[in-house]
Amino acid sequence: MEKLKYERPVIQKLNTGLMNKFGMSTETRPMRDVDGVPVKELIEKYGSPLFVLSESQIREKYRDLYTAFSVRYPKVQFAWSYKTNYLSAICKIFHQEGSWAEVVSGFEYDKALINGVPGDKIIFNGPEKSKADLAKAIENGSLIHIDHLDELYTIIELAKVMTETPNVAIRVNMDTGVYPMWDRFGLNYENGQAWDAINKLMACRNLNLIGLHTHIGTFMLSPNAYKVAASKLAELAVRIQKRFGKTIQYIDLGGGFPSRNNLKGAYLPGTDLVPPLDDYAEAISSALLNSSLSPNELPLLILETGRALIDHAGYLLGTVISNKRLTSGKRATILDIGVNILFTSFWYNHKVTPAQEFSDYREDMELFGPLCMNIDVIRESIQLPTLKKGDHVVIQNVGAYNMTQWMQFITLRPNVVLIDENRETHIIRENETVEYINRMEKVPDHLKEFDL
Ligand SMILES: *Cc1c(COP(=O)(O)O)cnc(C)c1O
Repeated sequence: MEKLKYERPVIQKLNTGLMNKFGMSTETRPMRDVDGVPVKELIEKYGSPLFVLSESQIREKYRDLYTAFSVRYPKVQFAWSYKTNYLSAICKIFHQEGSWAEVVSGFEYDKALINGVPGDKIIFNGPEKSKADLAKAIENGSLIHIDHLDELYTIIELAKVMTETPNVAIRVNMDTGVYPMWDRFGLNYENGQAWDAINKLMACRNLNLIGLHTHIGTFMLSPNAYKVAASKLAELAVRIQKRFGKTIQYIDLGGGFPSRNNLKGAYLPGTDLVPPLDDYAEAISSALLNSSLSPNELPLLILETGRALIDHAGYLLGTVISNKRLTSGKRATILDIGVNILFTSFWYNHKVTPAQEFSDYREDMELFGPLCMNIDVIRESIQLPTLKKGDHVVIQNVGAYNMTQWMQFITLRPNVVLIDENRETHIIRENETVEYINRMEKVPDHLKEFDL
């Protein structure tokens, strides 16, 4: 038998009624597999850490949300928010399901085109669209959402010299009763900026105003805010119809629906805090149907879906590097997962589950990553059974924003694997290598040689 390792004893104060010296009992079960594929096998084959996405969980959620909207409103279109996760395989799952593309930069626009999305099914948002980006989008018949007046003037200028008529919408920001208000993007409803832009746009004959857009925030916990937003956009559409005889073809309510993650500082976990997504569909569709919009010419309802459709389907698998006791006596467990690849750990208390059998007792511990940085904390405080070197963990709800906001910092970005509906695994983004990073660098001749 292997000799047991010595571990320094710790003295813990006992309080009656609280946990005993063995910690509190736990009802958590280990998470040994993702969609039936064992965690151990995935790590052996593809390395650790490892991002894993479930195709069936993506499709299932998409269909649930699409059904929730389409049973309540007759014309619904989803557009996948590229910045939430723009790995091509993921975008293509959404495009196969019928989703258009929603992009917020020239780079994302090109990515959508390369993915094969027709130009007229790309929604172009964002405050920075270069003149060349706008010209390309006009040529392709894309849906350009105007963020500010300077952009409107650039489009007017382009429209004078181009043969295609630009298809545009105004991005509107507004007070929906949720604060702080997102008034940085688009033009304001209450103070008349949006109406002013609409009048300027309509005065220009060669622009085609086809839609109205708003994206009121992210991780929005209030379905009622969407009701307010939908009513305000419907009112604007009615006003445009009255003044110009122009029918607005679509109303786009953006994204921002919450996932089931646990927000830092929230009293309740996401599973208890987040309203069912059906409530959002109900709020939006009833606001539109009860508005003064003509029932014979109802606009298409567009939703720019992001985190709510992908967060749950993403898992980050990792391995315990070591354990130590902090000077306070608190246990610290070091994982091979750093905040550079789990960016969302800055605002979520991610659920972390051991991937193998564990004892019934748990202890308050801190989970650190491998970076040589004090900020590299995955969880400041979490009740978990003790984990040993080499044990695996699964971090849940990581599908949104991590694979776009991740940083190459100290370590390289790991493999991303998709489990398809037949439980086959596919690498959808290869792990980075030092050659890949160095490929972008250039060393001037005089710095090439040195003697040490
Ligand atoms: C980011 C973004 C979305 C998606 O937001 P989620 O919070 O992920 O749903 C939709 N529309 C616009 C304009 C965005 O910037």
